[in-house]
Amino acid sequence: MKSKFVGCLVGSAVGDALGSLFEGFWASDLEFAGYSGRWTDDTHMMIGVAESLISCGGFDGSHMAQIFIKNYEEEPWRGYASGPPQVFRMIKRGLAWSEASKRLFNGLGSYGNGAAMRVAPVGLLYYDNEERLRSVAYAQSQITHAHELGMEGAAVQAYSVALAVKADSSSELDSYEFLGKVKEFTISEVYRQKIEKCSELLSETNKRKVARELGNGVEAYNSVPAAIYSFSRNWHSFKDAVTYAVSLGGDTDTIGAMAGAISGAYHGVENIPEEWKNKLEKKHYIEKLAEELWNLKSRKSG
Ligand SMILES: [Mg+2]
Repeated sequence: MKSKFVGCLVGSAVGDALGSLFEGFWASDLEFAGYSGRWTDDTHMMIGVAESLISCGGFDGSHMAQIFIKNYEEEPWRGYASGPPQVFRMIKRGLAWSEASKRLFNGLGSYGNGAAMRVAPVGLLYYDNEERLRSVAYAQSQITHAHELGMEGAAVQAYSVALAVKADSSSELDSYEFLGKVKEFTISEVYRQKIEKCSELLSETNKRKVARELGNGVEAYNSVPAAIYSFSRNWHSFKDAVTYAVSLGGDTDTIGAMAGAISGAYHGVENIPEEWKNKLEKKHYIEKLAEELWNLKSRKSG
């Protein structure tokens, strides 16, 4: 189980770093020669979620917001979208962490994938408590992404990580069953239909059709299902799952990060290719965070 925790966070960072080579491109013929292991805002914020959960022994919204702000100010060049820095400025001016993000997009909040791309540590810490997993996934989302579809995307991604952590990777995964559980979990009709589409497309060989029907953009209801789908049809191999995810094009670093989190949680860190792990920026720190999450989980359950 500890290896699955480490595999999840390392897998997410590796997927981000691979995907960042192709952001915005149609990448059906993937050439990973340029891989440097450098990751983007997805991993930077995922690290922030883990740091805050560990240091507070669970979720504390105002602490997590402050960690996000501190990390962003230290390394603002990680490829952040425009929303989070706007929210950070509002919080610094005194607005509550749970209120600031509601002001984006004319008061509707963002339904981008920014809350889902970083949520893996929540899926790990609450893998055996569906209710708590959902409420913490929503709450951490609310710091920057207040739209219900952004929050639901984070919960659906966290739940997929939880399912992968719990799955026995020594026997075959039934992709239809996996997707069925995700579909049952979501309370949103938009996600239910997308996950159903994932099942229908499992044997589809035309990748452009998959990308068109699931979507590959920054909207959480497109990229989260695309990542879950990439894992489901390539459950047997971390390498295949992440390569497939990135090859769908669009928001490749985030789809890669989310597929990498689920697949890494399923396979454990040993099954992530060495050449990808070895070059990964701050690998030891990411591993350490995953181990501390595991220790926290063991203490909580013990
Ligand atoms: Mg990014």
